[in-house]
Amino acid sequence: MTTARTALVTGAARGIGAATALRLARDGYRVAVLDLSGQDAETTAAAIREAGGESVAVGADVSDEDAVTAAVAQVADTLGPPTVLVNNAGILRDNLLFRMSATDFDDVVRVHLRGAFLVSRAVQAYQVEARWGRVVNLSSTSALGHRGQANYAAAKAGIQGFTRTLAIELGPFGVTVNAVAPGFVETEMTRAVADRLGVPFAELVESEAKAVPVRRVGRPEDVAAAVSFFASQEAGFVSGQVLYVAGGPRA
Ligand code: NAD
Repeated sequence: MTTARTALVTGAARGIGAATALRLARDGYRVAVLDLSGQDAETTAAAIREAGGESVAVGADVSDEDAVTAAVAQVADTLGPPTVLVNNAGILRDNLLFRMSATDFDDVVRVHLRGAFLVSRAVQAYQVEARWGRVVNLSSTSALGHRGQANYAAAKAGIQGFTRTLAIELGPFGVTVNAVAPGFVETEMTRAVADRLGVPFAELVESEAKAVPVRRVGRPEDVAAAVSFFASQEAGFVSGQVLYVAGGPRA
């Protein structure tokens, strides 16, 4: 048995979560890849193993209490106690306020906020026991306000308050809790936005890039690099922070 630590990344079958799982594996962690479908998660887990890392795939809905309890226990049994957690799973249900259904509001809040709560609560038991841990939550520049995203903006702003509170509660146990708040990143999530708006993805990317000071949109690896910093041993005195990863100071 190696002394490597175990990281759990939710929503890691693709996009930012997959890039983060691969990055943390490269950093030396064993990585549990959690997503709605275990089969989809296996794609990332297999890529980690092919690159020489240790990984397992776990299927669970982060907003389902029993499924989360079982999934976290499974990770602890197969890869060792998870002490690094990246709450990344997320969905979009965009619409202007007057057209947004209560279901679309609830679904977004349920996955982002209830999901991060349930998985953090399950993982903190292992972190507290180890007297060491890292939690990194995915917020967004949308937390600052974004047309058509009342549900998502509320959830991503909520993630920031959640992050600061966990930092206060878990700090005494050697656990740091931080958030990364990406701007526009090229993933299936933003591809779906282009589809909804009826514009080609390349066109949306080009117009978004024009508004970003570094004149490009984000890549999943840009976000993974920020998560990697927060997860590192060296970041032990940084907690309760929100790092915007957006190519500029704001959206
Ligand atoms: P994505 O849609 O490509 O991937 C999200 C993953 O989460 C998918 O694999 C999906 O199956 C999984 N997922 C969704 N609901 C789940 C649930 N209930 N339980 C378990 N897994 C679930 O999205 P992405 O762009 O990679 O986004 C990842 C995170 O980053 C999200 O929290 C998102 O809100 C955030 N974010 C993305 C962007 C962006 O521009 N892409 C910007 C800011 C923040």
